[in-house]
Amino acid sequence: MNQHLRTDPVAFIDVAAQRRRLGAKIDDAVARVLAHCQFINGPEVTQLEADLAAFCGAKHVVACASGTDALLMVLMAQGIGPGDAVICPSFTFCATGEVVALAGATPVFADVDEATFNISAASLKQAIATARRLGLRAKAVIPVDLFGQSADHDAIAEVADAEGLFVLDDAAQSFGATYKGRRLGTFGLATATSFFPAKPLGCFGDGGAIFTDDADLAERLRSVRVHGQGSEKYDNVRLGLTGRLDTMQAAILIEKLKIFDDEIAARNRVASRYFDALHNIVTAPRVADGNVSVWAQYTIRLPQDIDRDAFAAALKAQGVPTAIYYPKSMHQQTAYKHFPVADGGLPVSERLSQDVISLPMHAYLDEAAQDRVIAAVRDAVA
Ligand SMILES: *Cc1c(COP(=O)(O)O)cnc(C)c1O
Repeated sequence: MNQHLRTDPVAFIDVAAQRRRLGAKIDDAVARVLAHCQFINGPEVTQLEADLAAFCGAKHVVACASGTDALLMVLMAQGIGPGDAVICPSFTFCATGEVVALAGATPVFADVDEATFNISAASLKQAIATARRLGLRAKAVIPVDLFGQSADHDAIAEVADAEGLFVLDDAAQSFGATYKGRRLGTFGLATATSFFPAKPLGCFGDGGAIFTDDADLAERLRSVRVHGQGSEKYDNVRLGLTGRLDTMQAAILIEKLKIFDDEIAARNRVASRYFDALHNIVTAPRVADGNVSVWAQYTIRLPQDIDRDAFAAALKAQGVPTAIYYPKSMHQQTAYKHFPVADGGLPVSERLSQDVISLPMHAYLDEAAQDRVIAAVRDAVA
């Protein structure tokens, strides 16, 4: 092996490899859109919504402009606003809590489970009590299926039902994952996902979708998606957004969805090789029995005596990129510090922010590249 090959960095994610695999299929799909010129609300958007519904089993799918819009649109369609509290985990991407604040409501941050990184049912309960003590109306919870793994939807539903909250599942990183044999997209009142290129199912730009079994909600979402339009085009009956998914992105996603199951299987093969090689030297992620992760990230926790910056530098020197999701939990960030946290604090979120680090993960990571990652991790903790 020559010097160049040995030091060529491993790809953290590899959008180009998938592009090569799909090649002409994507080009042809885009060419069809260029031929019919229905760039907005073209036939591919309706087709994609039907394909996504068939894939996950949801009754209604509303494609939209991003994962953030998907979350926000549900809050808007549900009339969430000032005086309302929406509970979310603090250890997540900022969009989860951001949409609550954008809707004029108050995000109340809850802690997460140490093993799955997902919202803890006990802390959810605590956060609801905190919201009420502060005089807020606790209206909803947004659990996140972080890094590709489903949250504990049965435990969340039990608390939400008992306390009268609706559940909006943030599956931006986890579309395609299953919980107890059922695909995400069918839990709670509604599920939001993202097709940002780096997500497990990504398009070639921004995109998202909302899943629900509630026909009335789906109708309100279709209205919110186009400025709150009513049955007459220029009679707007509520506030809305320019929240549509472009036809071009829908055409691309239709082709990508066809190979998605195969890619999920490939990601699981990578995860299982990583686990076998690494679980006795770092804290490797575990997926609850009966669930399947889509491995948006492969996130390990480092032993206490390992300095994370030094670890990342050691891997980088071997051509192995890493990333830290997330160095600060939401309640530790400038824009969100003033929002309430569940009584008792968020010690797990704070610990995770200090010791997690994510390794390269994608469906096209071959065994040689996996072995380089594994060797670099072993060297760095030795
Ligand atoms: C990516 C992401 C979003 C937002 O999706 P966009 O399409 O980038 O707007 C929301 N929540 C989580 C957990 C995410 O990872």
